[in-house]
Amino acid sequence: MLEKLTPQPPDKIIELIGMYRADPRTEKVDLGVGVYKDEKGATPVMRAVKAAEKRLLESQTSKSYVGLLGDLDFNAAMRGLVLGDAVPAGRVAAAQAPGGTGAIRQLLELVKLANPGAKVWYSDPTWPNHPAMVRHVGLASATYRYFDSATCTVDFAAMMADLDGLSAGDVVILHGCCHNPTGANLDAAQWDQVTDLLNAKGAIPFIDFAYQGFGDGLDADAAAVRRMVTRVPQMLIAASCSKNFGLYRDRVGIAMAVAQDAATADLAKGALSSLNRLNFSFPPDHGAKVVEIILNDPELRADWQAELEEMRTRMLELRAGLAEALRRETNSDSFDFVAHHRGMFSRLGLSQEQVMKLREESGIYMVGDSRVNIAGLPADKLDALAKAIVRVAG
Ligand code: PMP
Repeated sequence: MLEKLTPQPPDKIIELIGMYRADPRTEKVDLGVGVYKDEKGATPVMRAVKAAEKRLLESQTSKSYVGLLGDLDFNAAMRGLVLGDAVPAGRVAAAQAPGGTGAIRQLLELVKLANPGAKVWYSDPTWPNHPAMVRHVGLASATYRYFDSATCTVDFAAMMADLDGLSAGDVVILHGCCHNPTGANLDAAQWDQVTDLLNAKGAIPFIDFAYQGFGDGLDADAAAVRRMVTRVPQMLIAASCSKNFGLYRDRVGIAMAVAQDAATADLAKGALSSLNRLNFSFPPDHGAKVVEIILNDPELRADWQAELEEMRTRMLELRAGLAEALRRETNSDSFDFVAHHRGMFSRLGLSQEQVMKLREESGIYMVGDSRVNIAGLPADKLDALAKAIVRVAG
């Protein structure tokens, strides 16, 4: 049986990590992998996480199963973090999941269960796991144009033109904030127009919310989702705690299905519970419990927010610094978009060849589509980096 397997396509980012590790140059720069890094290049455990883990270690009396939907206090706290009081709790079916990826997977399966004929739309470009998972789950898919490579901003006219092809019951994946890989985001008025269009077509928004707190702040990043949820009958949300709590390997996420009424939300809750049972049974507890402790303890929550804010402002400073260096280098504002983008990534608009050249000539590693991890920028070498970028781009 096993010999019938065909080799899987290699993961581009994992390949890039391997190449970076094997590169002997000391001045090499890693702008590839999608984890937050501090100024020393480390991805530290956040202070509040350490404190909550200590508390948990001392107080936990059992490792017995929690529930199929996970820790209900975690689910309630996450509903608050993401949605605030924008929607009554009774309309939200929530299930803990292993990371944002796990939440996306469970919600795609929920779509398949409720409406196997639904087409799932995602932006072109998007996080590559979106198309891969939609295909794997066996749902039909379509893309909508999103990014204007010439200006490195959202091509909103093209996006709306493509979404005009939506049919009733289709599902549209939208990045709640901090679009990956581009860093270009919709403004509030554009979110409203997308909401109007989806409502007019009878399509359902599916928010992938992996970077809350990495853009303009915890509440500002959630503003679009919170407004949209008041204006649509149904919405799916997959939120991740990997980035904003730094809990990557602990696999903490939540799948939420917002329904028009409590009875329908109960149906969704039953389905999410069953899907958890079928796929992995009980979701992992440790990281979710840590998040729940932090969110429900005013002191830990304040410290977590303060540290998250340090990370966010560090990335904004790096954005401003790189944009400034590129302005000096090009004598133009053609790279100012770097300062306007939000989140951990920016797509620079370079060609594959230019990206390759940067790797070979300067030891600067970025994903082939010219996505850079802003947190990986070396603050003391922005001028050299700008020079290298302009050398290949010019
Ligand atoms: N969505 C997007 C857009 C992401 O970039 C990521 C992380 N790379 C995720 C979801 C999920 O992350 P995780 O499963 O680690 O929580």
